[in-house]
Amino acid sequence: MQLAISRIHYPVTTLGPGRRVGIWFQGCSIRCPGCISTDTWRTAQGEVTAEELVENIRPWLAECDGVTISGGEPFDQPLGLASLLQTLRDKFDTNILVFSGYPFETLLENQRSWHGMIDALVTDPFLESAPQSKTLRGSDNQRLHCLTTLGEALFSSYEHRSMDANKQLDVMFDEDGTVWLAGIPTRGDMAKLRTLLLEDGHSAYTTEAPISLCKTTH
Ligand code: SF4
Repeated sequence: MQLAISRIHYPVTTLGPGRRVGIWFQGCSIRCPGCISTDTWRTAQGEVTAEELVENIRPWLAECDGVTISGGEPFDQPLGLASLLQTLRDKFDTNILVFSGYPFETLLENQRSWHGMIDALVTDPFLESAPQSKTLRGSDNQRLHCLTTLGEALFSSYEHRSMDANKQLDVMFDEDGTVWLAGIPTRGDMAKLRTLLLEDGHSAYTTEAPISLCKTTH
């Protein structure tokens, strides 16, 4: 089973506790209006197995505080996601947070493929018209589910933290000078950033092209 991956990065500090390995899946069929990750929408050919991916980032996994899987839509690649979760569980003692745009009830229909392997799960589509006051969520209709004892211990406090207290984004630099942001921006921040960058003579855009895995691993 080959996985289509948009990006991997370490450390990510804004999507869960500690310094985390971030894995973004490529391809999202949900396509929420107002999504800021449109570069991850396009379906792409799988390039790497879960075992190869995990081997590639083994040094990060050995020292990280957890793994965050986002997208794109991870559950649009259900077999690949299950394989990745199982591989991580088999080889590393780490907590796993997954973001999905599907309702929790929909994911439960196929829970045999992920049950027990995800510690915390954020579900439901981004809703542009909903308020945004909760950490780890782009809109307040999205729900945080602590699914294991470890997940409860690590993530339940996020239910009560306000977005205002956690206005942070990770900034990542590629070798070609491209700058990427990770995290959950507050509403309107990306538009403001785009205006500021354009005024200063920089380019600001989302790309339709998935990033080659080899550019992002080390
Ligand atoms: S599920 Fe996530 S990646 Fe997909 S459109 Fe919605 S916000 Fe964007």
